[in-house]
Amino acid sequence: MEKDIKTTLAECGFGFKKQLGQNFITDKNLLSSIVEASGVGEDDSVVEIGCGAGTLTRALAEKVKKVTAFEVDKSLRPVLERTLSGLKNVDVVFRDFLKVDLSEFEKGFDGYFVVANLPYYVTTPLIMKLVEEAEKCRGLSVMVQEEVAERLCAKAGTAEYGAITAMVALRAECRIVKRVGRNMFYPRPNVDSAVVKFTFGKGLDVKDRAVYKKTVHAAFLSRRKTLENNLVNAFSLTRDRAREILSECGIDLKARGETLTPEKFALLSEKLM
Ligand code: SAM
Repeated sequence: MEKDIKTTLAECGFGFKKQLGQNFITDKNLLSSIVEASGVGEDDSVVEIGCGAGTLTRALAEKVKKVTAFEVDKSLRPVLERTLSGLKNVDVVFRDFLKVDLSEFEKGFDGYFVVANLPYYVTTPLIMKLVEEAEKCRGLSVMVQEEVAERLCAKAGTAEYGAITAMVALRAECRIVKRVGRNMFYPRPNVDSAVVKFTFGKGLDVKDRAVYKKTVHAAFLSRRKTLENNLVNAFSLTRDRAREILSECGIDLKARGETLTPEKFALLSEKLM
């Protein structure tokens, strides 16, 4: 950790809160490579979630038009006043981003990119919030635990592929753009991480997102059961009707949910509407 940030945190009497997942990044090269990998530029508005001591916030603000940074921990206010001093294009909002009404918030934007290094328990709810509610989000670059990164970008039929993979495919394409070892954080966490970049707008064309979601969740309800059994339970179908629908979609009657590509889930969800 660079001495000046460490000193600032100490001078402000800041105490790290483990329950808020406060593992900060201070390495300047890593910060600029995260900004670079997120692909944001001088015409872009960025929403940073969980700005911590403001190191990534500053690196972003030096590259883009505007940064709106959310931070749930108000005790970081004096730290951020120092670390972000002199920057005219940063707004810090001390709120839990998961509780923000996105339709209201988005009124202030034509389009925006989200960049986040968040505690791991917040990343899945954040991703789902953006997938389900965001209308103007054009991209998301998020630091996640390495295993979660593999899951988000997994191919159908692999052990890593799950409901979250198929849900993300609904709105975005995603890929791992950077691996980050645990030593790059202060304090050091117990896991390695990776930055996953989501490009919104390249998702699937489905008629009803709610039915798609229900189909995906049904398919992964019990990994030990066949898709047919899971559909019978979740959609209250007769076994004959479930088989008929699977055949119409060209899906093997013995198939398990994790073998279906997002495109197959889209097709199946349309037959279940
Ligand atoms: N972005 C900084 C960095 O890279 O050094 C801080 C990263 S730290 C892993 C995550 C930050 O997110 C913490 O400062 C924590 O207080 C904040 N946070 C946790 N949950 C949040 C939420 N729901 N909304 C906004 N901020 C949150």
